[in-house]
Amino acid sequence: MTIIAGPCAVENREQAFAVAETIQRTGGEFFRGGAFKPRTSPYSFAGLGEEGLKILAEVRERFGLRVVTEALDESTVDLVEKYADMIQIGSRNMQNFTLLKRAGRSHLPVLLKRGMAATLEEWLLAAEYVMAEGNGNIVLCERGVRTFSQHARNTLDLAAIPAMRRLSHLPLIVDAAHGTGHNYMVGPLARAGVAAGADGVMIEVHPNPAKALSDGEQTLNLDEYQQLVRQLNAIQELVA
Ligand code: PEP
Ligand code: MN
Repeated sequence: MTIIAGPCAVENREQAFAVAETIQRTGGEFFRGGAFKPRTSPYSFAGLGEEGLKILAEVRERFGLRVVTEALDESTVDLVEKYADMIQIGSRNMQNFTLLKRAGRSHLPVLLKRGMAATLEEWLLAAEYVMAEGNGNIVLCERGVRTFSQHARNTLDLAAIPAMRRLSHLPLIVDAAHGTGHNYMVGPLARAGVAAGADGVMIEVHPNPAKALSDGEQTLNLDEYQQLVRQLNAIQELVA
């Protein structure tokens, strides 16, 4: 089971290092953090840009973690390639075909999030865009879809896990943070994702979620994260 954890956005060195230290100490291998953030409102914090990528490169150097970060367009893929280990393509960009093709020409693996209204077929065809350019290193990420339900930001589609297993050989992880939008739902749904057979989880973690510059309401603090890692490892043992 792979855990990709970290803050929604890289905010500064202290924040990133505090989270990275916890991830490393609890056996994690991957650090996530946005430097280019696709925000619903143009007035929200949109990330530190290249300065954020430099902090990610320091995290990699100092803590030996691999770093995953989002690229928003072709020019940010160029930058992400300079500093990171994996290119994230976000839900809003799942059908940005020029971006998918550019990622397909990259030497880096691609984390392809499900579009918030995408069918499994559309999601797989998006992956095909990357593969058709020569890059077969793709990890799919279920992050919830829009439904009529109002108790969660999105509806995490757990049935997509076994369904995708039938359709594709690609590894699949579950993002219970964006999939629910509420920190108290992250643990239950991440545990359910692993129990349902996901290859891993994505989790948003921040030393002080109440002060986070983005997605604080769906973010775990360091203690909550450590407890969840123990639970996920136990569930993984049972279903392996
Ligand atoms: C994120 O991972 O921070 C993010 C913006 O996710 P999504 O594209 O799934 O909304
Ligand atoms: Mn986020």
